[in-house]
Amino acid sequence: MPASSGVQKILSVEIFGPREAQLSQQPEPQAAGDIVKIQVLVAPMCTEWQSWRAGKQSHELGHEAVGVVVDAAQSKRLKAGDRVVVMPHAGCGICPACRSGEHIHCTEQRNLLAETSSGSGIGCYSDYLLKPDYLLELVPDDIETHHAAMAICGLGPSFTAMKRMQVTAGETVLISGCGAVGLGAIVNARTIGARVIALELQPYRAELARELGAELVIDPRAPDLIEQVRAATGGYGADAALDTSNNEAAPPVVLELVRARGRLSFVTWSGSLPVNRITGKGVDIFGCWHWNHEAHGAEMMQRVREARPLLDKLITHRFPMSDVASAFALQESCNCGKVLLYPGAAEPR
Ligand SMILES: [Zn+2]
Ligand SMILES: [Zn+2]
Repeated sequence: MPASSGVQKILSVEIFGPREAQLSQQPEPQAAGDIVKIQVLVAPMCTEWQSWRAGKQSHELGHEAVGVVVDAAQSKRLKAGDRVVVMPHAGCGICPACRSGEHIHCTEQRNLLAETSSGSGIGCYSDYLLKPDYLLELVPDDIETHHAAMAICGLGPSFTAMKRMQVTAGETVLISGCGAVGLGAIVNARTIGARVIALELQPYRAELARELGAELVIDPRAPDLIEQVRAATGGYGADAALDTSNNEAAPPVVLELVRARGRLSFVTWSGSLPVNRITGKGVDIFGCWHWNHEAHGAEMMQRVREARPLLDKLITHRFPMSDVASAFALQESCNCGKVLLYPGAAEPR
């Protein structure tokens, strides 16, 4: 970018090749219309490490952030200085899914770079990003930034699953897969007061699942898996279950671990289900991706308040954005819960 253009440079994480990532300079994003500019305070890490491992070149990484509005453009909802949770993607705001607050399922994504004539601003692993104002949730003053940062992929998908399955205190919830989403599901279930049985094979995550309150953690490869779950649930199976494992073989197994007329949610993108077993057991099934901040913003913030001690265990590591390569390597090892990235000169806290 020639200096005469007047566009300043910002720092963003860029993947250059397989297991190669470092900070690179990008043109500073420009707010316009209802698309506001946000300074990123913290960017929780999700599945971007898989792009790093594969060498998928990009400088627009990450879809989770908490930040401060620095330019509200023509927004009537927000002003400079507002602290906000950044929702993923850029749903159109006008289709039936978006109008009901279910922006994550929108099939008509906006092109934020074209609309603002910006050269960067999509990814959250950056000093600044752009977002339509209706995809930003105000953070109440009493909630700390790192706790608010769990109200995205950490707690969000399983918050939706618990709601749609109507999980209540005292019920038994089975959680398949204890990556960051599954660990967040344990936090949600325990905060509601439900019992948790977790399936996880990786030792660090199995231990973290126990620390978060899972009563029983079973290796999903155990030959007597179904018998173990039935023994722990009065012989019938779990009242509700959530598969977060992204394991091709898991969905039909998890279906067998739910009792007749139980409920089952999927935050996973692999596998398939036998229809005869769904009908035979009369199971209610829900596809859950994210959470509806327009309908349930206040309830989520209350969940964050109540879950604080567990959120402090869920967040296991923090890195300055300049050390993103170490953060990716840690995630590849699976020896972590939720990992936070701090841009700019901000010290991890
Ligand atoms: Zn839409
Ligand atoms: Zn995510």
